[in-house]
Amino acid sequence: MSDVTKINGRPLKPSTLMMGHGYDPVLSEGSLKAPIFLTSTFAFPSAADGKRHFEGITGKRPGGADGLVYSRFNAPNQEILEDRLSIWDGAEDALSFSSGMTAICVLLLTYAAQGDVIVHSGPLYAASEGFIAKWLSKFGVTYVDFPAGATREQIDAVLAKARTQAAGNGGKVCMIYLESPGNPTNALVDVEAVRAARDAALGADCPIAIDNTFLGPLWQRPLDQGADIVVYSLTKYVGGHSDLVAGSIAGAKKWMDPVRMLRNTMGGICDPNTAWMLCRSLETVELRMQRAGENAAKVCEFLAAHPKVEGLGYLGMIKDTRQKDIYDRHCLGAGSTFSLLLKGGEAECFRFLDSLKIAKLAVSLGGTETLASHPASMTHLSVPDERKAALGIGDNLIRISIGIEDADDLIADFDQALGAV
Ligand SMILES: *Cc1c(COP(=O)(O)O)cnc(C)c1O
Repeated sequence: MSDVTKINGRPLKPSTLMMGHGYDPVLSEGSLKAPIFLTSTFAFPSAADGKRHFEGITGKRPGGADGLVYSRFNAPNQEILEDRLSIWDGAEDALSFSSGMTAICVLLLTYAAQGDVIVHSGPLYAASEGFIAKWLSKFGVTYVDFPAGATREQIDAVLAKARTQAAGNGGKVCMIYLESPGNPTNALVDVEAVRAARDAALGADCPIAIDNTFLGPLWQRPLDQGADIVVYSLTKYVGGHSDLVAGSIAGAKKWMDPVRMLRNTMGGICDPNTAWMLCRSLETVELRMQRAGENAAKVCEFLAAHPKVEGLGYLGMIKDTRQKDIYDRHCLGAGSTFSLLLKGGEAECFRFLDSLKIAKLAVSLGGTETLASHPASMTHLSVPDERKAALGIGDNLIRISIGIEDADDLIADFDQALGAV
């Protein structure tokens, strides 16, 4: 009854479906909004139902339980959230997690076995890179990486190298793991080229996963470009209010089911309160992201013309023709997270950051409020200097995530802070 997904054969848009999809008020005393289900376990209608549900949980039957069993496996608020998340990416299924990193770690652990090789784009979110290099290596899993902007030929060469490495280790190339745009340079990965290279070199058994935190779900739909699994830190744009930590993955059921099995075993599912908060956030995600994107465009136009600004890493102003080509094929908007390069170094950046009156000095992104930080001395402090240079993280780089404040107020704030430099 509540689940109208089409009217006269016309599919409803995600922004419409966020208000009711996956929830039937009749099942909850008519409560318009879903209650928060604070329960660890669920009563079975009959013993036979209990058996059937456990067949789904244990994998005797694929696809998970068709009824609720125990809150480590799933629960109503999380199921509503997962139904709604899958809509944005056009995915068959989604899984929620207690953080973006839990989602990423459980995903990688599901697909990697001893001797296997993970191929990944670089840079990745530092903790993702660390999980692959530091933790998975303990189990004999190695990696090969390639720079975000790589061409088809470069990707072919990397896959060939990874296959040789895997054969030498008695394993396989188990996953291609991407992040696009990369942080902090906003370099984009050519997902279509990765897909073509994967199909040619490895066949369809090696999934392509992509961290879509920076542009998703509004401005980039990587499943449309041939990725198999999208990954999110819901902490960022989807949560959108800097008041929760959560993560998700989405894709075809055949890719989700093994991950669900490991999540059932390990835990790491999002808690019911956070799932409820995320459903509230999803009702406004399109509004918030549109506004933040419009604000970022106005702010960047101002910044680009300012004499104390050396450059901008903003997807709305790409100069490189190859990057522009990827952008035009993959992106539906330029986002609201970008890098600001000042003339000068750390001292100038610190003066700018310490002078901001509206924008808050904090790491993270995608919230309603504008945030600014200095990667070289904060998020990337422990990265060796050569790697920082290779990633384009100089002392004069400031990372900015634009929120939904008034654009002219933000411009006034950046103007006075630049004046103080
Ligand atoms: C924040 C972030 C993560 C990690 O997410 P958490 O929710 O903090 O665990 C992963 N990838 C990207 C791109 C991020 O920005």
